[in-house]
Amino acid sequence: ARASGDIRFVGVTLRYKDDAAAALQDISLRVQPGETVAIVGTSGSGKSSMVNLLPRFRDPNGGQILLDGVPLQDWNLGALRSQIAFVSQHVVMLNDSIAFNVALGQQVDRLKVTSCLQAANLEKFIAELPQGIDTLLGHNAMQLSGGQRQRIGLARALYGEPALVVLDEPNANLDDEGEAALVRAVQGLKGKGKTVVLISHRPGVVSVADRLLILHQGMVQASGPRDGVLAALQKQREQALAAANAAQVAPPGAAPAAN
Ligand code: ADP
Ligand code: MG
Repeated sequence: ARASGDIRFVGVTLRYKDDAAAALQDISLRVQPGETVAIVGTSGSGKSSMVNLLPRFRDPNGGQILLDGVPLQDWNLGALRSQIAFVSQHVVMLNDSIAFNVALGQQVDRLKVTSCLQAANLEKFIAELPQGIDTLLGHNAMQLSGGQRQRIGLARALYGEPALVVLDEPNANLDDEGEAALVRAVQGLKGKGKTVVLISHRPGVVSVADRLLILHQGMVQASGPRDGVLAALQKQREQALAAANAAQVAPPGAAPAAN
């Protein structure tokens, strides 16, 4: 059965080694079915660690993660993983047709391939290829841009009809056009009712998120509906700036005496 894509993290802690500092500490998050959440934070803040817990690539040391109200460890592992599509920065292409690369490991249903490519915002790109979805990729074949590659990865992810789509820094090497295409693709996923977890830095991409989770050193710095979190971050920035200015303009007498 298809999950609805309701995700909950409850006080999740993760340590890669018993004696290591926690990579994730007391993380809580609720994502409703069909919502898009963006996880934002500097490199090493724990973003990938967090999403890698969803298909149980690892289990947390503390706390609980639930999909559709059921703890992950109570799901059949194969059933759980079939609900979750992962798109990372490194989409591997096989030396075969676009259709084969989208269906990857499953029987090629041409209509379904086309609809997944459409959902990944590659419709126009495919329409301009003389061989369409039969165009060969790989050596001797066409060069894909980084953005096209990622969107083929997205189409591949959709082919499995997941409830949940995870995009881990999909836009690291994208130009503006690639970013706009990705944003439209995420909007397409939302239109299909998918729950989307998006790891990204780009403000343009964050704008499609319904909610934001800001991670800092494995802890939640801010979390909630997008606009509220953005406003809180802006306020923090202004306060930090005001504090820095106030420190610079020290009251007379407080300055150290010049020799
Ligand atoms: P991000 O995706 O935000 O860049 P990561 O989740 O990759 O952050 O990393 C968070 C922390 O966990 C970092 O300190 C990183 O070194 C550590 N870490 C990530 N993966 C592993 C691993 N497989 N083994 C040990 N430490 C890891
Ligand atoms: Mg990462």
